[in-house]
Amino acid sequence: MTIWFDTEEMLIGGRWLRAADTLTLENPSTGQPLAQIARGQSRDIDAAVAAAHQALSGDWGRMPALERGRVLTRMGQMVLDRADDLAVLEAMDVGKPLKQARADAVALARYLEFYGGAADKVHGETIPYLDGYTVYTLRQPHGVTGHIVPWNYPMQIIGRSVGAALAMGNACVLKPAEEACLTALAFARIAVEAGLPDGALNVVPGLGGEAGAALTAHPGIHHISFTGSVATGVKVQQSAGANVVPVTLELGGKSPQLVFDDADLDAALPFLVNAGIQNAGQTCSAASRILVHRSIHDDVVARMAERYGALKVGPAMDDLDMGPVISARQKAIVDGFLAQAGDLTVAGQGEILGTGGHYVAPTLLTGATGAHALAQAEIFGPVQVVIPFETEAEAVQIANGTDYGLVAGVWTRDGGRQMRLARDLRAGQVFLNNYGAGGGVELPFGGVGKSGHGREKGFEALYGFSQLKTVAAHHG
Ligand code: NDP
Repeated sequence: MTIWFDTEEMLIGGRWLRAADTLTLENPSTGQPLAQIARGQSRDIDAAVAAAHQALSGDWGRMPALERGRVLTRMGQMVLDRADDLAVLEAMDVGKPLKQARADAVALARYLEFYGGAADKVHGETIPYLDGYTVYTLRQPHGVTGHIVPWNYPMQIIGRSVGAALAMGNACVLKPAEEACLTALAFARIAVEAGLPDGALNVVPGLGGEAGAALTAHPGIHHISFTGSVATGVKVQQSAGANVVPVTLELGGKSPQLVFDDADLDAALPFLVNAGIQNAGQTCSAASRILVHRSIHDDVVARMAERYGALKVGPAMDDLDMGPVISARQKAIVDGFLAQAGDLTVAGQGEILGTGGHYVAPTLLTGATGAHALAQAEIFGPVQVVIPFETEAEAVQIANGTDYGLVAGVWTRDGGRQMRLARDLRAGQVFLNNYGAGGGVELPFGGVGKSGHGREKGFEALYGFSQLKTVAAHHG
C-alpha cells in the first residue's frame, strides 16, 4: 500500500508544516526504510503549544461539550471507515500482525465513540454548606495537555489519552514515538477532516530527547500524559515537577497470571500464552509471569509448551501468530535477557519464518523462582517465565514481589479466593478467570509502584484530564 499522505509533515495550528530535518522510519518486518518523518525540534513544540493556547481562546475553547462530543464521534466513525488502511499502516510501522493492528484501529474508534458520548456527561455537584451560601463545583479542562506516546500501541494510546483530553476540552500536543508514528499522522488528518478546530490537536513527531523533552519541560503545558519506560517516566516527572504540572505515568509492568489447582485449565490456556506473545510481548500489561500451583505445574507447562511449539513468527502482513519486535535495539534488549536464562529450562519455543526483520522466537522458561532476574525485569519481548507456588499466601507474595503493579490475572473456581486476591494483589486491574477483559475502553487503567500513577480509560480518565473548581456564592 502506498502511504496516502505526506509523512514528513507536522500538524501545528491546523497547518501542515515541515521540520528543518527528517528521521527515517523503518519497517521492522524487513529492516528496510519505510518513510521519512519530521524531526520536530523545540521551536516546533513552542509553535504547537502556542497554537494550542490560541485554540483554547478561540473556537475550541468556546465549543459546547455536546459539539466536542459530536466531533469526536465523527472522528470515531471515520476511523472505523478507514480501519483497514490504518491497520496496514500500523502493521508496517510497528510490525504487529495485521489482525492485531486492525483490532487496534477498532479500539481507537471505540475510544473516540466512548469519549464522544461522554463529553457532555461529566458534571460538577452542589455541596450543602452554611446558611446563605450556594456552593458548587465545575469540572474544567487543564488547558494544554502534552501526550507522549510509545511505539507499541500508538492507536490505542492516542485513543485513550488524546480522546479523553479532547472530550474535556483540552487542547493537545502529541509527540508520537520516533519508531512508529504513521497512524498518529493519519489520525491527525482524520481530526482535521472531521472538523476539529485548528490547534485543538497538534502533532509533532521527533526524538524523545529533543521534541519529547521540550514538550515535557514547556512552561505552557498544563498536564502531561506519558506511556513508556520507567527511566524516561522519571525524567518526564522531574521536568513536569519543575513546572508543577500533573503527570499521568503508565510505565509497564511484570504482570502475573496465577493458576490455582481448581482452575478451568481449558479456559485459561489461550489467555496464558496469548497474553505473553501478543504484539511480540511488547505490551505494558503482558503476562510475563505465570504462577502455577505446584500440583498442576508440569501439566500446565506441557500444555503451554505445546502451544508455543505451534507458534509461527513472520512479517506483519503475513498475519501469523507474531511479528518482529520493533527494532534492532529492542531485539538486542530481549536477546540480552535471554542470555541471562542459562540456569532456566526452555520448555517451549515458536518458529521464526521471517527473514531480514527483527525476529525473536517466543520462549517459555521454567525453573525460576520469583526472585530470578528474568522474573523481575520487564523484558518487553515474547518471553514468559513459569514459577511454581505451594500456597495462596506464597502466590500472593510472589505476585506482589516486583517493583511493578499494573495488572494481574487469577484462575480459580473458589469464590472466596477470588475476592481475597482481588483485594490483596498489588495491581491497577485484577482479572478473575480472564485476562484483559477484551481491552475494555470503559475500564479504568493504570498502575501502582513503578508501573506509574494516574488512571486512563473509562470515566476516570475524564476526571484526570480535568480539574475541579469550587465556587462558593454568598447571597444571604
Ligand atoms: P521510552 O520510554 O524512552 O519512549 C517512550 C516515549 O517517550 C517515546 O515517544 C519517546 O520518544 C519518548 N521519550 C524518550 N525520551 C524522552 C524524554 N527525555 N522526554 C520526553 N519523552 C521522551 O521507551 P523506548 O522506546 O526507549 O523503549 C525502551 C523500553 O521502554 C522498552 O524496552 C520497554 O521496556 C519500555 N517501554 C514500555 C512501554 C509501555 O507501554 N509501558 C512502551 C515502550 C517502551 P522516541 O521514541 O521518539 O525517542
